Amino acid sequence: MVPDYHIHTDMCGHACGSVEEMVEAALEKGFAEIGIADHLPCIYVDDPALSMSTSEIESYVEEVLRSREKHKGEITVRLGIEADYHEQTMGERVKMLESYPFDYVIGSVHALGDWTFDDPRQLKRFDGLDIDQFYRQYFECVLEMVETGLYDVIAHPDLAKKFGHRPSFDLAPLYRRILQEAKKRGMCYEVNTSGLRWPVGEMYPEARFVRIAHEVGVPAVLGSDAHAPDDIGKDFDKALELLREAGYTEVAMLGKGERGFIPLCEALTS
Ligand SMILES: [Zn+2]
Ligand SMILES: [Zn+2]
Repeated sequence: MVPDYHIHTDMCGHACGSVEEMVEAALEKGFAEIGIADHLPCIYVDDPALSMSTSEIESYVEEVLRSREKHKGEITVRLGIEADYHEQTMGERVKMLESYPFDYVIGSVHALGDWTFDDPRQLKRFDGLDIDQFYRQYFECVLEMVETGLYDVIAHPDLAKKFGHRPSFDLAPLYRRILQEAKKRGMCYEVNTSGLRWPVGEMYPEARFVRIAHEVGVPAVLGSDAHAPDDIGKDFDKALELLREAGYTEVAMLGKGERGFIPLCEALTS
């Protein structure tokens, strides 16, 4: 089975399942490798329902490493983290990233300024908004995030569409620019199946992004963005199909050292 590298835990305040419960659910589903990647503290906003607090990172890391040890030989558990790119507070976040032995860092843009635009509780702020401008700002931030060189993976690349808002202009040139920068830095992007569970009802990213990524030569990993044990590996069959249709023949693995790949022909039949 293709590893699921985007799994949250109850430490973030809006998911259920401890690290150990997530690992056990993955084992039950037959995964040989997964990565726990909970939200790094969002310092730009003090909200226990958005991420763990700064004082909790230590125990997050310990719990993941404990589960890794406990299940050695049964399942490979990678220590990941999902770290927001938020220009105004990057200094502190970089320090956190450097303080722990993360196997990989997923980079995401969930907030523009003081607005966590993907938080359903803040949906009202879309009212009367210039959606084209919003999209431009969002992708500008994604580009800046890639250019920092701090991240291994671009999370849910077109998250801006989460609640179904669409721009009136062509996003392809922005996609290409971001992907070219990602390629230079040896980054991947994730095909994140959680969009299927939100109003937009489609995978992040859309098929066009995947096709351009394949042309540019940026590898893809899979992530369910699980916020409950049952979400792990959800809709991976559809994600693999999306990759195959775009011309991919393999899906990437994450971890320290040389990048591994799983041939799609094997993944689609297992
Ligand atoms: Zn979350
Ligand atoms: Zn995210």
